[in-house]
Amino acid sequence: MADDAGVIGDIEIRPAGRGLRAAVLSVGSELLLGEMSDTNATWISRRLGHVGVDVRHHHAAADDLDDLVAVLRWLGDDVDVIITGGGLGPTPDDLTREAVAAAAGVELESREELEEAIIQRFAKMGTSRVSPSNLRQARVPVGAKAYDPVGTAPGFALTLQTPDRPDDHPGRATRVYCLPGVPWELQELFVRDVEPEIMALAGQGATLTRIVHVVGYGESRIGEIVGPLVDGDEHVELSFLARDHEVQVRLTVTATDPDTAREESQPMLEQVIDALGSGVAGIDEEQLEDSVLRLLGNAGQTVATAESATAGDIAGRLGKVPGASHGLVGGIAVYATEVKRDVLGVDPDLLEEHGPVAGPTTEALALRAREFFGADWGIGVTGVAGPMPQNDQPVGTAFWALAHPDGEVEVHERRMPGSRPQVIARLGSAALDLLRRRLLEQETKNGEG
Ligand code: ATP
Ligand code: MG
Repeated sequence: MADDAGVIGDIEIRPAGRGLRAAVLSVGSELLLGEMSDTNATWISRRLGHVGVDVRHHHAAADDLDDLVAVLRWLGDDVDVIITGGGLGPTPDDLTREAVAAAAGVELESREELEEAIIQRFAKMGTSRVSPSNLRQARVPVGAKAYDPVGTAPGFALTLQTPDRPDDHPGRATRVYCLPGVPWELQELFVRDVEPEIMALAGQGATLTRIVHVVGYGESRIGEIVGPLVDGDEHVELSFLARDHEVQVRLTVTATDPDTAREESQPMLEQVIDALGSGVAGIDEEQLEDSVLRLLGNAGQTVATAESATAGDIAGRLGKVPGASHGLVGGIAVYATEVKRDVLGVDPDLLEEHGPVAGPTTEALALRAREFFGADWGIGVTGVAGPMPQNDQPVGTAFWALAHPDGEVEVHERRMPGSRPQVIARLGSAALDLLRRRLLEQETKNGEG
């Protein structure tokens, strides 16, 4: 364990006063074949960002010893910390151990305590026979610090020393942390063993990003509103991230520790929330659907959906929020016109007259959703998600309707830009945001009355 910032054992990882530079190296040919997204790298980056570590590279490498050694050397030349994920399994194509040992110029050795941990893990699962290939996982490079496994693969850390180069480029010490690729194992080991060590290496300092989720305003409009507030505040770094159905206003603050960073970000956060008013759909972890369910909970009310274009996506989004059952009664995907008519009971004459994608049809869906499920609020949506136009209606045509507790229905219409998934996400958000705004108004009115 590091006893002094930047020092592990007696090797200085980082000269005093310089920020820690890091790289994430994900190992596995699947990543390069496009069969899997590198979610380990995004997860690690986010964690490192929170403790103020500057992630400079994400690299994915194939299960190839020469490639891995070359990449480790190259990254080691540029960063103070490398986190590798994957390639620690029992099979011959798992080469991370070998590669790190080779890059450091050391041999692998088997550790008795790791063998013991692996045998015990198997015993717990009711297997007394542990194959030699599983015991391969007890090997680590000579000099490495091993971490107890949380699954079957132990992680380890080793310091690589790149030599000074003839062209005056000084060599540097790089701490390499090797973690299994299975996401839950990687995350548990990272939080338990790696993060504390890196925080000590990084010295004091935490970077915290507060997120304001905004719906219903474009990025440039938000910039006009928020920009002047943050201007000249050296403390706070402002950035915008446009997602399919929302814009995130991100306020990044660096301070000595996470609590102080949170405290220091609070006044600016409140100003931004004030300025954006009802456009704010959630803060930090709270997203639009969380806000809707929180507001429904406050009001003791429920919602149900009848979805054509989104085919259940709105109900699905609400259903992902823990504890959704207090607010979400149900949803029906009424994709085909016959289903709108025969299952949900929409008037056939109305369908005949207006067609499946139209204001009056959407209004009927919202009303029927409310009645069919016995909810307080009903959401209905129809549209053309693309990629082909439908019945002469262009891609992106979108209608959403909200049936209120008093039986009134409002309908809205807009052309949604983007690809099919984007149109679906935006239409869903428009409907959820409408409900959110009406719930807010209701709350304000009841608060006054
Ligand atoms: P094991 O001991 O289970 O073999 P390992 O260290 O060898 O672990 P891999 O075989 O590379 O890890 O990956 C195991 C599984 O973890 C993969 O099948 C994949 O589902 C997941 N995984 C690996 N790398 C990543 C990554 N970068 N992002 C997301 N998931 C990953
Ligand atoms: Mg494996």
